[in-house]
Amino acid sequence: MIPEQSSEVDDPNLQWLLQRRKHFDELVGTVEDYAIFMMTRKGLILDWNSGAELLKGYKPEEIVGKVFSIFYSKEEIEAKIPEEELDVAATHGKFATEGWRLRKDGSRFWASVTISAIKSPTGEVAGFLKITRDLTERQESLEALRQSEERFRLLIESVSDYAIFMLDPAGRIVSWNTGAKRIKGYEAEEITGQHFSRFYTAESIADGMPERLLRRAMEKGSSEDEGWRVKKNGDVFWASVLITLVTDDHGQHRGYVKITRDLTERKRTQQLAQASERKDTFLATLAHELRNPLAPMAPGVEVILKAPHDTGRVVQIASMMRRQVGQMSRLIEDLVDVSRMTTGKITLRRTTASLTDVLESAMEAARPFIESKGHRFTLRLPPDLVEIDVDQPRLTQAVTNLLINAAKYTPARGQVELIATCTSGRILEITVRDNGIGIRADRLESIFDMFNQGDAGASEGLGIGLTLVRTIVELHGGNIVARSAGEGAGSEFTLYLPVVVGSVHGVATEPVRPLPLQRCRVLIADDSKTSADTLALFFEAEGFEAAAAYDGQQAVEIASRLKPDLVCLDIGMPVMDGIEAGIEIRKLLPGALIVAITGWGKEEDRKKTREAGFDLHLVKPVEIGKLVDAVRQRALASTRAQPSLDPVAGEKIPAGPDT
Ligand code: ADP
Repeated sequence: MIPEQSSEVDDPNLQWLLQRRKHFDELVGTVEDYAIFMMTRKGLILDWNSGAELLKGYKPEEIVGKVFSIFYSKEEIEAKIPEEELDVAATHGKFATEGWRLRKDGSRFWASVTISAIKSPTGEVAGFLKITRDLTERQESLEALRQSEERFRLLIESVSDYAIFMLDPAGRIVSWNTGAKRIKGYEAEEITGQHFSRFYTAESIADGMPERLLRRAMEKGSSEDEGWRVKKNGDVFWASVLITLVTDDHGQHRGYVKITRDLTERKRTQQLAQASERKDTFLATLAHELRNPLAPMAPGVEVILKAPHDTGRVVQIASMMRRQVGQMSRLIEDLVDVSRMTTGKITLRRTTASLTDVLESAMEAARPFIESKGHRFTLRLPPDLVEIDVDQPRLTQAVTNLLINAAKYTPARGQVELIATCTSGRILEITVRDNGIGIRADRLESIFDMFNQGDAGASEGLGIGLTLVRTIVELHGGNIVARSAGEGAGSEFTLYLPVVVGSVHGVATEPVRPLPLQRCRVLIADDSKTSADTLALFFEAEGFEAAAAYDGQQAVEIASRLKPDLVCLDIGMPVMDGIEAGIEIRKLLPGALIVAITGWGKEEDRKKTREAGFDLHLVKPVEIGKLVDAVRQRALASTRAQPSLDPVAGEKIPAGPDT
């Protein structure tokens, strides 16, 4: 069996090895599951068991005496792989490998091969024992698994409509597909290993949203969410997110699969549909709101045309028309603002203004709304004079809107507060708080959208106010936050404005001080009924509570009941003249502002009224607008100084040129 010409023929180790063969045959000759044979030191096959015959297809007589490299491919032989394997086995006692091997018929099988060195009693390597096992089946199933995993991986990787990726148990990204790259903008290598919370907005992170979603997936197996997410370039998109818990066969937590879909388009379409619906409602409301003030005007005009000389009527109708025109102008102003807002054309004209001026103008504008519902009003101001760099009319408009809303959305006899504080540095905070109908948590953001109004019936406007307020505040570099503990729990709107100029010393605010908002009461006495009534109507139109008297005695009677803040007395009157009436009224009302309105303007006439305790002596015709302004100014000044509308002694009120 050993070829005659082989150099190994005379090797004593070979002789020793051949003697071992007998034992080999006895032991493994019939084993079928393993191909087992012995080889000489140079790889000549010495024997061949049943397993070898079955596995490799050679009969013993065909293969014994051949070199074992016959089982290797041409390339392996050229690369001297068989010799190398024997060398390793000789040096280390054993060589093991797996790989494709050839059968006699040329077919391949996956072999697990061990070559062990057989040592002679002298310790030399006499030959080798080679054991081969056919693992083709195992290899094929492994390969099938690998291929199926590969297919699955490719499938997931190539999906571009969904971002599909895996997170480890701590929430760090471990895989990344094409969809994830497309939707979020990151390459796999930049994002792998990062925590998935980087896709969330700062508000969501502060709110603990990412951790909450993982916790819910951990507890319930999966968690879903819809919301704004952030791309690599900082853009946001509207995402639908599913996070599923991943566990292995032993129930061990391996991480999470996260599937994200970009629904921005759908969201936009929804938003457009909502916006268009809101616009329809807006137009319907607008038509209604414009018709309301218009309705009484046409019959009013008819009355004037029919009785143009009835001064009392004409004045009455004119003051009604003035109110309605005011209402319509406000609506139209709002509309103009809407178009300015939508085209981004609102610009600011900033100047240095006094915070108090802004707040007082706003209070003045909102006063009729607050008063008409009998609300209690409180104002809190910083103790120092605060100068701000703002567009005064615009900021006044913003605060007015908030005050009017507070009045509108609070049931009668509620509480409205206006609080201004300077927190730190340049930041001015203005808060308008009410104890009215409140706002549901899910609406706290959307109420700022254009034409967005409360539930049907709850709104009393066009749904523009808050959009305008936010625009104005943002143009000033600030922001607005709405807060409410829910329906019925009142609302609070705070403007944060980086507009304070110069240094602000005290940061504490004054204690809450009630500002009397009850209307200023005025009494007008004149024996000309038309004059008295016209003037009373005028004051009423200006928002005062006015009463008329036609002689001195009646004036005193009404004054004792009405307790007016301002008394305008004609001097020449029947029953009791104006001087006498003034003296009586001064006794009744030491704090009232008593003004003589008379045709007599000589110094001696003025002396008489002064001595009778009149504050002012005005000569007809009086510039009533100025008188009204003066009274207003005085009321506000005294409000700031003390919580009452009492006039400040000695203060001069500017009036007509002939005082
Ligand atoms: P409008 O008052 O004309 O409807 P706004 O933009 O001023 O429009 O307000 C939008 C919506 O916000 C209102 O319709 C109302 O539902 C709600 N809202 C505003 N202010 C308040 C408030 N102080 N209390 C309760 N709800 C309010």
